[in-house]
Formats: sequence, C-alpha cells, structure tokens
Amino acid sequence: MQRIKSIQEVRKELEFVKSAGKKIALVPTMGFLHEGHLSLIDKAQEIADFIVVSVYVNPTQFGLSEDFNGYPKDFERDATLCEERGVHLVFEPSNEVMYPDNFSTYVEEDKLSSVMCGVSRPTHFKGVTTIIMKLFNIIQPDFAVFGNKDMQQVAVIRKMVHDLNLNLQVVTSPTVREPDGLAMSSRNIRLDEPKRIAALNIYRAMSEGRKLVNKGFLNSDRVIAEVIHQMSTTRILRVIYVSIVDRDTMEPMREVVEGRSVLCVAAWVEQVRLIDNLEF
Ligand code: AMP
Repeated sequence: MQRIKSIQEVRKELEFVKSAGKKIALVPTMGFLHEGHLSLIDKAQEIADFIVVSVYVNPTQFGLSEDFNGYPKDFERDATLCEERGVHLVFEPSNEVMYPDNFSTYVEEDKLSSVMCGVSRPTHFKGVTTIIMKLFNIIQPDFAVFGNKDMQQVAVIRKMVHDLNLNLQVVTSPTVREPDGLAMSSRNIRLDEPKRIAALNIYRAMSEGRKLVNKGFLNSDRVIAEVIHQMSTTRILRVIYVSIVDRDTMEPMREVVEGRSVLCVAAWVEQVRLIDNLEF
C-alpha cells in the first residue's frame, strides 16, 4: 500500500492504474478510522479494482466555533487499518497542498444544503462540496463511496454530481453501529461514560419513533414529537433538530412513506455534536 501526500504524485500513480484498465473507487474520510469507515472500504472492494482512501481533516467544513483543532487524529493507525483492509493507496495531503495561499474558489449546493445541518452549520456543506470536488478532480475515481450515516451529505453530493455532470457513480453503505446501537463516529472517542450513555438515547429515541410508525402512526409531527420527548429525558442531551425528510430531496414530509422517508437527528451531548438517522 502506498501513502502519498502530493497531488502530482497521486496523479502519476493513478495514470498507471487507469491505463491498465482498472476501475478506481475513492473513499473520502477525515481519518481516525473505525468500522464504519472500514465498511465503506469493503464496499469499494466489491465494486472496484483499486481502492483509494483519502484521510484529510478538511478545515473549510468546520465553523469558527467548531472542533477542527480538537478533531481526533491517528495517521499511523489509519494507515495500518487501511493496509489490513486491502487499500491500495492512502492520500493524506496537508492543508498547504489542499488550500494553498490565496485559495478563493468554492463549490456550493444551495438547496439541500440549506436545511437541517445547514441551518446550525451554515458553512459546513460548502466546505464539504468543495473538498469532495477537489478530491474527485485529483483522483478521478469511477466510484465514490459514502456512508448513509451522513444522509444529508450523501444527498448534497449526489446533487452536486448530477448538477455538475460529474462522470462517476456515488455508492452508499449502511450505518455501522456499536452493539448497543450507538452509530460509530470518530467523535465518540470524546464521550466519557455518562456522555456515552446520553448519546445512546439518540438511537433509543429514534427506535421509539420507528415503533410508532410500525404501529401505523404515519403523521410526521406525531413521530417527531415522540422522538424529541424521548431524547429530552436525558439532561445532557440537547436536541438540535429532529426531522422527517425525503431521502433524495431532503424536503420535510408530512407523512412517513416507507422506503422514502428518513428520520434525521442532530444533538449535542455537552460539547460533542452527534448526528444519526433511521430509514423507514
Ligand atoms: P468522516 O471521517 O466522519 O468524514 O466520514 C467519512 C465517511 O465515512 C463518510 O462517508 C461517512 O458517512 C462514513 N461514516 C462515518 N461513520 C459511519 C458509520 N458509523 N457507518 C457507516 N459509514 C460511516
């Protein structure tokens, strides 16, 4: 497995791969890898011949008061995990490589990005679409693999790929959870025992919402009210939003429609911002 930091070098390497007729899959990550990330690598292995994982904590997707500086990092461990999973190339650029002085061009999707996380993190998706576009241009993958854990991110990227006629296929993979239901996240490392117990309430509350739907209560407001109520029973868990949206357009849905609706949740557990979702 190769570890490459420079754009020129990665381009040169991938030219050989392409000329050999191999299909490339890119798995973009911010590192501190866990089984959720590794499941995306497994998915990539199923569909492509050459797997590239990018490990880059992208500053432009963090707001000024957010946890960019405290974001967990362990590049050596990430590289070991990638190698064990059969990754061919890890691209780990520096900030100077990705955002040289005088950088001033951004990619912005302004519809799907304006709801849910886009409200509380108004510059977040602009940072995401910009870095993903840059990675697509550098790697030129045939496939890009993303986790449904970040459902809104997937929808925004799919929209960008469609609107800008990008020549690649977006592939998604289900959310990987801890045995007790907590969605895996690099940020979980910041949860001590009481915070972790509080965080678990997100999945528990969403599951109560699903129970209502299973019983035939399809009114979104009714389900949302139940999820908020369940989350509010934990003092250190603060709801940012609970929404039921169309999985493609991110538009709110009055009624839950099986196979189309997704329940999306964001919450603070003290200083840690967590998101999760459940598809109906
Ligand atoms: P991140 O490093 O958090 O930016 O995530 C990189 C990729 O991994 C994104 O496509 C995420 O959706 C995906 N991902 C993160 N957590 C999980 C998880 N628990 N299950 C599946 N995919 C995940």
